[in-house]
Amino acid sequence: MLSSSSLSLLEQTCPRALDFMEDGAPRDSSVFDVGTAAHYVMESIQRESVRLGCVPLSEEQRTIVSAKAVSALTLKGREFRGNHEPPMPLASALEGQRIALSYIRRQHGRFGISPVAMSERELSFDANFQPCSPRSPNRIWSAILDNLEMAYNEDTGQYVLTVCDYKTAWPAGQKEVESLQLKGQAVLALTHAHILWPESYEDIGVVKRKIVNLRTTKETSAENYTDDPELNDWKETIKSVSMAAPRRDKKTNQRPSSPGLCCARCPYRSVCEDSALPDDEEQSLSTRYRLHLAEAKRLEKILKAQLKDVTVPPGEPGYRETVKTEVLPDAGNTVLDTLLPQYSDDGDLAKILTALVSVSGLQSLVKTFPTLTPESVLQEVTSSRWESGE
Ligand code: SF4
Repeated sequence: MLSSSSLSLLEQTCPRALDFMEDGAPRDSSVFDVGTAAHYVMESIQRESVRLGCVPLSEEQRTIVSAKAVSALTLKGREFRGNHEPPMPLASALEGQRIALSYIRRQHGRFGISPVAMSERELSFDANFQPCSPRSPNRIWSAILDNLEMAYNEDTGQYVLTVCDYKTAWPAGQKEVESLQLKGQAVLALTHAHILWPESYEDIGVVKRKIVNLRTTKETSAENYTDDPELNDWKETIKSVSMAAPRRDKKTNQRPSSPGLCCARCPYRSVCEDSALPDDEEQSLSTRYRLHLAEAKRLEKILKAQLKDVTVPPGEPGYRETVKTEVLPDAGNTVLDTLLPQYSDDGDLAKILTALVSVSGLQSLVKTFPTLTPESVLQEVTSSRWESGE
């Protein structure tokens, strides 16, 4: 059985991490905290809006509801898939609250007011794509869906079922719309439509996948007709990925581990005995440093590609305009024409020339003028330099 989150854990780490996830082992959730808090605040606001009769909440009401959510996250922690998660740091919860409130404000408060929208629904299906309990041993795919919307299109006389995933990472867009995770969510929603919307499920003509980037408010989406054969391809892929997912060994009741670079991004490394990042050995500091550096380089490559056209605020990784000083093409003539007539002795002239030359410039001069030897103008100086290693 796989879920959206276990698939992404498997992609990022190793099969053993799935054991820890299924067993509810304590995880280093710090990397997820901000996203968790943003989702929790939005869910709380949506629930309150529905409780009050699907009306938009005022700014003051949203502040009160979100403050209660922050308090719950930081004092008690939340229940997630039957496991209790420890309280999160206040700073992460407040950042999540800020992201969620700022997104809802930009929606002019009209968030979560649809009477047929649903949030944070955990859905599962079995190998025949029949809905089943998220705890059923027969389930092959599960996910907690951030938001489900059903809207009537008057032009076509059909309904559009939208599966919406909220992301708090800066780079979130087209790649996520085309991910198997989101396609799996669309299939989950369709297979549950007759239960969730008994009145309108027969008239669903389109299923839409939507990624909402909460930080940039950018929405990226893709649509398919419900009779599109591509949906069957998704189902086949889901089934084969689920079947191919590594299972626990019958004797050890464990999946294999494959420690390495993946441990640097594994939320279970503090409880994993096979981790390549043991926390308690002095000598491991160097290993940890190298692994983190390699991970940072890997992420930098991805971020650079994804943030090419995104403006990020100060403090966040990304591209910013920089000003660099360059030598004008005619600078040499200008300096000589301006300064040489003014020099008063050989010392001044030597200072001017030293300021003008560079190692690479001199190396090129030596090649051009054989009477100038490298030893007469260059010297080797030994110094200590920090190297990051691999
Ligand atoms: S710490 Fe490393 S070996 Fe252990 S589960 Fe995570 S990725 Fe696998």
